[in-house]
Amino acid sequence: DASPDTGDSKAPLQVVATNAGGTTKSSKKRVVILGVGWGGMSFLKNLDSTLYDVRVVAPRNYFVFTPLLPSVTSGSVEGRSISEPIRRIIRSKGKHAHFHEAECIKIDAKNKRVICKDVSEAKVKGKEEFALEYDYLVVAVGATSNTFGTKGVKEYCHFLKEVSDAVKIRESIANCFESASLPHLSTEDRRKLLSFVIVGGGPTGVEFAAELHDLIHDDLLNLYPHLHNDVKITVVQSGDHILNTYDERISKYAEQKFTREGIDVKMGCRVLGVQEGDIAFKVKSTSQLVNLPYGMIVWSTGIGTRPVVADFMEQIGQADRRVLATDEWLRVKNCEGAYGIGDCASIEARRIVEDVGYLFKLADKNNSGTLTTEEFVETIEKVRQRYPQIDIYMERQHMKGVLGLLSDATKAGEHSAVQLDIQNFKQAIAKVDSQMKSMPATAQVAAQQGEYLANCFNNMASEVNDNIAPEGPIRIRGTGRHRFQRFQYRHLGQFAPLGGEKAAYELPGDWVSIGRSTQWLWYSVYASKQVSWRTRTLVMFDWTKKFLFGRDSSK
Ligand code: FAD
Ligand code: MG
Ligand code: MG
Ligand code: MG
Ligand code: MG
Repeated sequence: DASPDTGDSKAPLQVVATNAGGTTKSSKKRVVILGVGWGGMSFLKNLDSTLYDVRVVAPRNYFVFTPLLPSVTSGSVEGRSISEPIRRIIRSKGKHAHFHEAECIKIDAKNKRVICKDVSEAKVKGKEEFALEYDYLVVAVGATSNTFGTKGVKEYCHFLKEVSDAVKIRESIANCFESASLPHLSTEDRRKLLSFVIVGGGPTGVEFAAELHDLIHDDLLNLYPHLHNDVKITVVQSGDHILNTYDERISKYAEQKFTREGIDVKMGCRVLGVQEGDIAFKVKSTSQLVNLPYGMIVWSTGIGTRPVVADFMEQIGQADRRVLATDEWLRVKNCEGAYGIGDCASIEARRIVEDVGYLFKLADKNNSGTLTTEEFVETIEKVRQRYPQIDIYMERQHMKGVLGLLSDATKAGEHSAVQLDIQNFKQAIAKVDSQMKSMPATAQVAAQQGEYLANCFNNMASEVNDNIAPEGPIRIRGTGRHRFQRFQYRHLGQFAPLGGEKAAYELPGDWVSIGRSTQWLWYSVYASKQVSWRTRTLVMFDWTKKFLFGRDSSK
C-alpha cells in the first residue's frame, strides 16, 4: 500500500495510489467495496480476487450474522459467536485484497473516488482521512434505524442493529432487575423499572419480545422470584397486526401466543414521543392518548438512510429517495461504475410503458401502424422475460395467457381479431406496471445480490468488453441477448422465532409450519448458514450452554 506522503502537512487528503487504474491491459481494475455486512461479505467471498485490485472499507472489522442478534440480547448466544473477523476472509483472498477499517464519509462520483475516515480511537492526528480511487464501486453500507423523526427516540431508546446494541440491551435488562430489587422502592417504582417496551411488531421486534420473555420467565424470575408480579412486556405496533409481512396464520398464532403469555400487544398505535421513563402513544381507532412508564425501550421500526448514501443520491440526481435506485443488473442509476446491493439499494425494474414506442415498432413488422392479435401475442411472449411484472400481473388476474391482457383491454372476446393502434397497445400493457414490487430488506436478498454481482464481475474480467449489462437503452430484441441475466431473487422462505422453543416458518407458495419441530429446523438452518466453521462451532456451544445451565444473568 503505497500512500504517497507528500510531506506537506497541509495536504488534507491523501489519495492512495494503487495500480494504473486499469489503463493498460496488464493492470487490474480497482474495485472498492463499501461495507462488510450481508451484501459486501457475500460479494467479497464470491469474487475471484485475482482478477481485480480489491479494497474493502468498513468501520468495523467483522461481519455480523444479524439473524442471531436478538439472541444476543438475552445471552442465548454471545456477540462474539456471531461475528466473523473480516481479516480471516481477506487472508483467504491472497494478496490481491485489502481491508481498511474506516468509514466512507463521501462518495465522489464525478472523480470516481471515495473519501474515508479513520473513526477508531487509535489514529494519527491530522491524518484521519484518505481517498481511494476506483474503477468499480460496490455500495453495500446497509441502512440505519428509522426513527421517523419521533421525539426522544434517539435519546432514550435502544436500537438493535449492531452487536454493541445487543450487548447494551442485555446490560440494561440486568440493570432494571437489579435496581428493582433495591430495598427502598415502592411497587410503582418497581413496575416502572420492569416495564419493557418494544416499538415495532415486525420480525425483529417480535423476535426480541420473544427472547426477552424467555429470558425473564426461564431464567430471571428464578433468580428474582420477588419480582414476579411486577414484570410487564408491551409491544407497540402501528399496523393492525404484528408480523404483518408474514402469512396470516403465522401472525395470528404469534398474537395469540403472546397474549397467552401475558405480552401486551398494542396494535394500531402511533408513538407520539418518548421522554425519560415515559412513552406516549395514540390509539388510532379511538384517538385515545396513552402514557406508558418504562424501564427500557427497544425501537425497531424499519430502516432509514445513511448520510453517506443520502449525499451520494444528491450528487447523482436521486435526491428525496430513501434508498439508491439501481437497474436490474444492480448498477446505480445515473452513475457509471457504481453498483448498489442490500439494504441501501433497491432495484427499479424497467417500466414497460417507457418502452411502449419501441415495443410497438418491434411488433409492427409491416409498419402498418396497427397490430394484429398475433403480432401482439408474439411480441409480449418475447419480452415476458424482460418485464417480470407481466407474469405477476397475469397471475394476479388469473389470466391463462397473453391473450387475457388483450381481451381485458379491448373488452373483446378472447378469439375475436383486433387491430391495435399505439394508444390501444399502451392501454393493454400499461396496467402491468402496477405489479412491480420492491424486494424486502433482508439478509437473504443482500447475500444473493452479492453473489450474483461477484459472478458477473468474475465473468466480466475475463472478457475485453467490460460491460456487465447492456449499454444505453435496454435491448429487448429476442436475439439481443444480454451478457448477463438480470438479478432474480429466489425467496427461500422466512422464519419467525416466537420463543418457548417454538418458531414459525413460511415457504413460498402456501406452506406454513409452526411449533417445536420448526424451532429445531431453525436451529439447524441457522447453524448451517454460519459463514465459517468457527462461528458455527461457537454458536452451537452457546446453545448447548443455554440448555445445560440457562442464560447468564450477569451484566
Ligand atoms: P449490513 O449487513 O447492515 O452491512 C452494512 C455494512 O456496511 C456493515 O459492515 C457496516 O459496518 C458498513 N458500513 C456502514 N456505514 C458505512 C460507511 N459509511 N462506510 C463503509 N462501510 C459502512 N434478515 C433476514 O433475512 N433474516 C433474518 O432473520 C434477519 N434478522 C435480522 C435481525 C436484526 C436484529 C436485524 C438488525 C436485521 C435482520 N435481518 C434479517 C436483516 C438483515 O440483517 C439485513 O437485511 C442485511 O444485513 C442487509 O445487508 P447489507 O449488506 O445491506 O447491510
Ligand atoms: Mg454489506
Ligand atoms: Mg450484517
Ligand atoms: Mg435492497
Ligand atoms: Mg401491423
